[in-house]
Amino acid sequence: MDMTTLQTLQEAIAFATSAVGLTGKAAEAANAVKGLLASGKPGDAGEAASAVNALLTELTSANMMNLQLSKSLRDLSVVLEREDQFAQQRARYKLTSTPYGDLVLQLRAEKAEEGEPMHYICPTCFNKDRVISILQGDRDYKSCQVNNVHGFTFNRVDYRSNEPDPYF
Ligand SMILES: [Zn+2]
Repeated sequence: MDMTTLQTLQEAIAFATSAVGLTGKAAEAANAVKGLLASGKPGDAGEAASAVNALLTELTSANMMNLQLSKSLRDLSVVLEREDQFAQQRARYKLTSTPYGDLVLQLRAEKAEEGEPMHYICPTCFNKDRVISILQGDRDYKSCQVNNVHGFTFNRVDYRSNEPDPYF
C-alpha cells in the first residue's frame, strides 16, 4: 500500500467516523480499519481491502438509513403541512345550529375572503374526510354536494298547513 493510498484511507476513516449518524456497526468497521492501519502492517492489502469493504457495506447501510430517515421526515413535513391547512380551514368555520336544530359549519363573517358569500359546509364530510362541501339548497333545506344523504333542515316547513291536522 503506497503512502498516498494510506493517507487517502486515513482521511476517509477520519471523515467516516466523524460523520453524523454513523451507526454502531459502521463505527466498529471504521475502527477495524483504523486498528489495521495502526498495527504497523498496512502492507497486507488483502486484509485492508476486506476491512475497507466491510466499512463500505456499513456506510452504504447507514446511507440507506439516512435516505429512509429523510424520506420519513419529508413525509412527516407533508403531513404536518396538511394538518396546518386543515386547522386553518377549520378556524374559518364555526359549528352552528340551524333554526330547525341541525348542526352545520358556518363561515365566520370575519373570516370571509373578499367577495366570498356566507355559506355553510357539511360537518360530516369536513370532519371525516377534510373535504369542504358547500351546502346547496333553498332557505328551508340544504344538502351536501358530496353525499346527498347528508341533508340539513334549516326551517320546518309545514306543507299541510291548509289541511286539518289529523292529530288534533
Ligand atoms: Zn357531507
